[in-house]
Amino acid sequence: MQRLTGIGVSPGVVSGRAVILIQRAQVLRYQIAQRRVDHELRRLDESRVRSREQLVDIRARVAKRLPEMASLFDAQLLMLDDPMLVPRAADIVRDQRVNAEWAVQQVFHEFSAVLDEVADPYLRERTGDVADLVGRLRMNLRQGVSTPRDLLRELDEASVLIADELTPSLAAQVDWTKVRGFATDAGSRTYHTAILARSLDVPAVVGLHDASRQVQPGQIVIIDGSSSQVIVDPTVEELARAARHADDRRPAAGADAERRRPASTADGVPIRLDANIEFPDDLAAARYAGAEGIGLYRSEFLLASGIAHVGEEERQYEIYRGMLEGMAPGTVTVRTFDVDEDQITSWLVEQPLAGGWVADEQRGSRQGLRGLRLSLTRPELFQVQVRALLRAARHGSLRIMFPFVSSVEQLREARRMIAEAAAELARRGEQVPTVPVGVMIEIPAAAYTADLLAREVDFFTIGTNDLIQYCLAVDRADERVSQLYEPLHPAILRMILMVRRAAERQRIPVSLCGEMASDPALLTLLVGLGLTDFSMTPGAIPVAKQVLRELRRDELRALARRILKLPTIDEIEHELLAALGKLTLLRSDS
Ligand code: PEP
Ligand code: MG
Repeated sequence: MQRLTGIGVSPGVVSGRAVILIQRAQVLRYQIAQRRVDHELRRLDESRVRSREQLVDIRARVAKRLPEMASLFDAQLLMLDDPMLVPRAADIVRDQRVNAEWAVQQVFHEFSAVLDEVADPYLRERTGDVADLVGRLRMNLRQGVSTPRDLLRELDEASVLIADELTPSLAAQVDWTKVRGFATDAGSRTYHTAILARSLDVPAVVGLHDASRQVQPGQIVIIDGSSSQVIVDPTVEELARAARHADDRRPAAGADAERRRPASTADGVPIRLDANIEFPDDLAAARYAGAEGIGLYRSEFLLASGIAHVGEEERQYEIYRGMLEGMAPGTVTVRTFDVDEDQITSWLVEQPLAGGWVADEQRGSRQGLRGLRLSLTRPELFQVQVRALLRAARHGSLRIMFPFVSSVEQLREARRMIAEAAAELARRGEQVPTVPVGVMIEIPAAAYTADLLAREVDFFTIGTNDLIQYCLAVDRADERVSQLYEPLHPAILRMILMVRRAAERQRIPVSLCGEMASDPALLTLLVGLGLTDFSMTPGAIPVAKQVLRELRRDELRALARRILKLPTIDEIEHELLAALGKLTLLRSDS
């Protein structure tokens, strides 16, 4: 038996056979015996053949829908036969007696070194193709595993997933009736997939560093999201304990009655609680949890899960319309696609997992062209979503929200595109209502210019998940620095206060939809900072209501004033927990 400790992000205890998923392009080097060389060369060739079959298949599918994109794959097919690639990797295996994965990675480094020196921008861009192809070869070198999607499809018994990282697009493809829980090497409390785990109600532990290497496929594993542990090869007693916990997983007493009552503080200040959702089907969970509306619909999950294509106006319209009708009279705030370049490219060619094959060397750039910035570079695609949204607006209460905004210019440009989309619809004979337009405040630049942005929008939504990582310079998916990701940092509290004041001065509503709101202790501090609108994962709403009802807003305001004077996170946390000490519910993981 072995215990691994990480960060529990979704409570509960489950057990099952481990399925291992490695997505990151980290490659191990190991020496092989002379007699294994032929075996290694055969693996390499099988990987080439398999990669060719996959590329031919993808090319054919893409050609049907987007003929102009199909040629992208010709370049990769040609490279696959290039003597500089697979034959060169075979030489490295023979000469250096190393594993095939390492040899393929070496070839990639040689290729990129040459391409980096080429001045021609077209040729330099080919590095991306090589990276993609090398990623595919390496993926096909993994014995017994074809693609992550196949792997997940093939599960025929209750399993737990152990992954180096679990991207939202991959999580969207998992059959969560078979996968009972998951653990990842990467991640922190607010890691996207953790958010998903909580809304799916599956136990999860993240930030385990090397669980995907320590656990072997097929081993029995317990995931204990409540105590932040993963138990490998558990004893019979441990398994029995896990089974007892699984039986205990029923809603807290009194939750039913609590759900139907609107939220307010003990001194009668109404608090609005909306739900954050990822899939249209989550509406039911949001309503069940007692959400007033949808404060954040992460529409990019439509693309990640393949429910709709980025260029399909009619399909998107039907989905948005269904959501508005389903949530009426509540308001649905749809955030326009918050994707990055790799994701949009892969979805364009119907290849949802390609984003996972980006080489480590290129990953740093993924935070750049994302959200509204990316939408503005692809106006034709952005217009499709905006038209679909405006048409749907006739069927309910809609707000449109832009992600990842860092300047007034971007906002103006986006508003101009909304006007253009409305004009285009009018030309088609479709009159559409005026829809409130807002921005996520999730980049420090937006927070610092909140007064300027407030003059040009109808509402703000503070996205603390990104705001914290950009303000504190901490990548929330990087476990090496995830302990520095701290919502209680004085800089974060001041920024939130600043944004709230800017919104108030301009008399526009402001809500907060980051994971901070799902933590009852942090929620009470946010109320103390003057916020009254929140959007959170549906499962967190009943507890939030319960906690708020026991506290007076004037006391929370006084607590926040004291806290704003404290210089360190430790002192802030201490003051907060001491003040809330009477309540036992406050820590979600206690
Ligand atoms: C945020 O950044 O706080 C947010 C809610 O957006 P996401 O988590 O989807 O980036
Ligand atoms: Mg965000």
